Order: sequence, then structure tokens, then C-alpha cells
Amino acid sequence: MFVAVTSSGRRVSLISPAPTFSPIPSPPYFCPACLKPVILKKGTKRRWHFAHHRKSACPYHHPESEEHLNGKALLYQWLLHQGYKPDVERFLPMIKRKADLLVEKSGQSIAIEYQCASITEEEMIARTLDYRSIGIHPLWLLSSSRLRLRSPRHYQIHGFEWVSLRERPKDTRYAFSYFSSRDQSFSFLFPRAMTSQTRILADHYTLPSSQLSFHELITFPDTIDGPSLSVSQWLRVKKQWRFGKNQWRAFHDPRRLGPLFEKLRAGLPFFPAEAGWPHLGMEVISVPAYLWQSWLLLVFLPSLSPSHSFTSQEAAIAVTKSGLLSKSTCFPLLDEPLTQTLKHYLSLLSLMGVVEKTNRGWKKKRGVRIPLSLEAGFAKDKYWGRRIL
Ligand SMILES: [Zn+2]
Repeated sequence: MFVAVTSSGRRVSLISPAPTFSPIPSPPYFCPACLKPVILKKGTKRRWHFAHHRKSACPYHHPESEEHLNGKALLYQWLLHQGYKPDVERFLPMIKRKADLLVEKSGQSIAIEYQCASITEEEMIARTLDYRSIGIHPLWLLSSSRLRLRSPRHYQIHGFEWVSLRERPKDTRYAFSYFSSRDQSFSFLFPRAMTSQTRILADHYTLPSSQLSFHELITFPDTIDGPSLSVSQWLRVKKQWRFGKNQWRAFHDPRRLGPLFEKLRAGLPFFPAEAGWPHLGMEVISVPAYLWQSWLLLVFLPSLSPSHSFTSQEAAIAVTKSGLLSKSTCFPLLDEPLTQTLKHYLSLLSLMGVVEKTNRGWKKKRGVRIPLSLEAGFAKDKYWGRRIL
């Protein structure tokens, strides 16, 4: 960490703006949060920083990697350069948390957290909600070393990283934000489709920090979409769902769907061809698309009278209540993510003539059937794929 206090309570920052911090007041130094003594480490390889004694654990501060220290200092300079007055490692006694950087912008306090190490999803959510409880907007920058490209344009996203997903106000597109302290660059990952429970197809953009303003970091830069998912790419996913050997058993038992398909004398791979399609926002539901979309087609829609108009939000509430989303990731920085994703899927259903748009939202137009054979189902998948993707 870069900030400590002296015994007289004077704040010592090792990354104050120029002129530099000399002369540094003499020791002892203390942690501003837990008040335990800390040591000044004057390395030649690493940046100068304060550290707790090895045996005195600090509840507010974890040992930092070089990458984290560096990134924090670079982001600090980057903000300073643009005329902001960032506060480094500000301890917030009300929530007992320390923000990497706290900065005011147009009357809004923003906490920038540069997340290099893995933390639990629960911890990430708790920190996010704590900031919001005192009116601070958290902005998570994941370390670029966390970007895991698995095949062209396919990225793997791990547990807590989902919590950092934010929305571009302009077009409600979702994106992950990254910072590289090594390259001094920002990256953004815009999901296009979710191809498995942990993998997304996404557009990736990188910009040197000199070409991005703080305002653009918050609102996201304008980007151009890469080529959209090809029909054949997605049919491979559907083929796996239909013909993959027991692959669907690996998923959480879809409590409502198993018995439903049994009643229809079929198995889950006989899902209707109108289910299992990719669309924007689908990554907020970790259950495979063909399962929850089947539920919507085979349970929710048939329960409505043909004249009943329903909103995307009502459909989202129904999906939540279905019990299908056993473990739903929390997206504290997104505004009604489930409603948004339902809206995108219902738009696809309107292309297939299953629902139609009304003034209030949607109305069902035709029923759907489960295919008589897996081959017939896949033939129908191809038919719709060519029309809606
Ligand atoms: Zn401490």
C-alpha cells in the first residue's frame, strides 16, 4: 500500500503528485485502517510501499502483488493527468473498506478497484453492495492477465468476474473492463453469446490508456461489432445439446423440465426448435439457453390466454419463479438484466412467429411442439437458424 500515517496522525502518501513526497517523515508508520505498525519498503525493483508486519494480519488490506501496486499507481497518474483528484487507498470507516482509488466526477463518488487476485463471488458482491450503500459507485477493473482466450473470440469467465459486468448506457450492451499495468492499456469484452456455462463469444477491444478518458471508461468507448455468430457455429452448439451423449445430465437438475418432458414422452434433447438460441444478454442466465427457453415455450406461454398481453418483465419474473435458475449469479451493476435478456429472446420468438409485439409488450401467437425425433428437431433448428441468426 502507498499510504500510512505517522504517530502524530500525519498522512504519508508515496504517490502524491509532484513535487515528490520528500522528505518522508521518519518512522514509525501505521496502517490508516487497522492502526497497526507498518514498514516502509524501499525496494529498488518494486515501487516503494508500506507493508504490514508478516505476522500482523490486516482485516482491510491484503498483501499486494507488484501488478496491483503498479496498476494502482498508473491509474492514479492517469486520473491526475486528466485533472481529477483521485484519493488513493481511502479508508471508508462506515463500511470498513478501503478503495484502491476514490474519485469525484460530476458530483458522483466512484471507487475504482483494480482486481488482480481471485476473490469469491460473495466477497465481490458484498464489496459492491457496501459501496452502493454509502452512495459510491464501484467500477471494477479486472487485470488483463485474467483474460482467457480459449479459441478465436471465445473467452472463459470465472465466478467473481461476472459480478463486474457493467452496462453501456448508450445501447445497454454489457461489458467486462480490464486494465493492464504492463501495457498501460484498457480492454473491454462485449459478450455476444454464451456458448457454454463458462464460455462466451465476445468482441474484444484494447486501447492504450493515453487514448481513453475517464469519462469513456465509465460510459465505455464506441466500438464496432465483430462478425456476428454464424449459423453453423451455433448449430454446432445445438447439435451438442441434441445429440451429445448425456451432456445435459451435467447440468443442475432442471426440476421443472425433467418431469415435463417425461410427460411429453420425450427427453430433454427433444426441446422445441424455437428454444436454444443465442441473443444479447443471454450470459446473465447460467442455465443453458435451451432449457430455460423451453420452459418459457412449454410452460409459461401455454399458461396465458391468447388475448393476454405480457411484458418482458413479467416473463422475467416468471422465469425467476420457475425454480430453473438454481444458482443465479448476481449482477449488482446491471439494471434488470433478466428483463433485458427476456426482451431479446422474445424478439427472436417474434421473428419465428411464436409471439407478437403489442403496445404493452408481447402476446402469444402460436404454440410450439416438441420434435418427433432428434433428427427432425435438428432439421428444424437449421431451418430457424437460417432465418433468425
Ligand atoms: Zn492494516
